[in-house]
Amino acid sequence: MQPSGALHLGNYFGSMKPNLELSAKADESLFFIVDLHALTSLQNPVLLRQYRHDALVDYLAAGFDPKKTIICYQSDVPAHAELAWILSTVAPMGLLERAVSYKEKVEKGIAASAGLFTYPVLMAADILLYDANVVPVGRDQRQHLEMTRDIAIKFNNAYGETLTVPEVMIREDVAVVPGTDGQKMSKSYGNTIPIFGDESVIKKAIMGIKTDSKGATDPKNPETCVVYQLHRLFLSVAEQKALANDYRNGLSYGDAKKKLFGTYMDVFGPMRKKHAQLENDPTFVEEVARDGAKRASAYAGKTMERVKKAVGLQ
Ligand code: ADP
Repeated sequence: MQPSGALHLGNYFGSMKPNLELSAKADESLFFIVDLHALTSLQNPVLLRQYRHDALVDYLAAGFDPKKTIICYQSDVPAHAELAWILSTVAPMGLLERAVSYKEKVEKGIAASAGLFTYPVLMAADILLYDANVVPVGRDQRQHLEMTRDIAIKFNNAYGETLTVPEVMIREDVAVVPGTDGQKMSKSYGNTIPIFGDESVIKKAIMGIKTDSKGATDPKNPETCVVYQLHRLFLSVAEQKALANDYRNGLSYGDAKKKLFGTYMDVFGPMRKKHAQLENDPTFVEEVARDGAKRASAYAGKTMERVKKAVGLQ
């Protein structure tokens, strides 16, 4: 996960919640706040320091259990950068040149640095260091995962079986959450509803969701209404049906938004409380990161030993 600013509803349902569910089922899982990756698009030390701490607070508040799950900053495990360099010596230029996300980022105005170009190599290192068998990602990350596999295979062909080639698990069931204007919710579009922070900001965002111009008591179509599309994410199938009926029976958009706001606060209330506690205890949060880095380094060190022996650096 990139430390790139306030967590929003799209991040929660699209990434955090499915990851929480997977880590609850897994024997072991590792999560990294990828601050080295963030350097490719953020050159502001004050903000980066803040964002990476905030990202850790967000994940802990959302329910990641640091005793069961390893969670830390990527840069605290130097083996990520070390392995990335070694992998970059086998990663074909042609493979990297085909990366869609690089082109998209440059088009968006991010400076075309060597780090941005080799971003997928660092991501391959993140995965291969831990002998990951399965990497669950959204559809947008498929190409990066294919590149990780290609790089691992290239390395193994050159130096013998050393790295575990991971399987890609595309999470089709993960929703694309719409933003307050109906486009995909994204920080880049300024259409987000935050999970943490001031209640008044959340309320303003929800009350500002775009709707059509139907009158207060007119029947509404839940399928095309962003307020409903967001509200249903929180509800069981039966609850969704009941709410959809209310829309068809002329629930006003104002009342629909108030209902959504009520649900939002009910569901996120406990997390928001925990978040406030963690914000007041930065020492604990940083201790979690240090402990996570120690545990991750123990794994990473074993892989690096294998890799270094394989290439002749040991
Ligand atoms: P943003 O677009 O706001 O910058 P990121 O690119 O940092 O968000 O996304 C972080 C994670 O959240 C990714 O796994 C991404 O797939 C997921 N995510 C972001 N926005 C949405 C959305 N609107 N719907 C579903 N998942 C999302």
